[in-house]
Amino acid sequence: MIELNDYIYYCTKCGWFSVPRRDTCPFCQSILKKYDCQTIEFFDLPKEEQKRLFSYVQEIIENSPDFDLKLRNRRLEEEKRYNEESIRKMCRNKVEVKCPYCHSKNTRKIGAGERMVTANLFGLGSQNLGKQWHCRNCGSDF
Ligand SMILES: [Zn+2]
Ligand SMILES: [Zn+2]
Repeated sequence: MIELNDYIYYCTKCGWFSVPRRDTCPFCQSILKKYDCQTIEFFDLPKEEQKRLFSYVQEIIENSPDFDLKLRNRRLEEEKRYNEESIRKMCRNKVEVKCPYCHSKNTRKIGAGERMVTANLFGLGSQNLGKQWHCRNCGSDF
């Protein structure tokens, strides 16, 4: 939950900023400064106005004496890499898994709830525990 009297917190060194309260920059560990726009107002503002405020904060950052352009670029690069990595991970989870027994791709992921039921039915130590995939073709879990 965002508190009513929160502000925009920003890092003058690498240009990172955020609305929920933080004391230090997660990227370069500098102490964050705060811009006194209360977020209760901020989130009530139309999108265009929010953008304008963010670019205003951006301007303060870029004009501060300890602003480090190289550090900012490194942060942007790292964030981009992080985002791409998350997208790749999401895609990887969607990739079809082949059954190791019959090599059919007709498999599905076993949900956590389902695994619990299996554990209850067959008792702890059941072979189904820890199995994450079910083959619809030959009926095996793996
Ligand atoms: Zn920073
Ligand atoms: Zn199979």
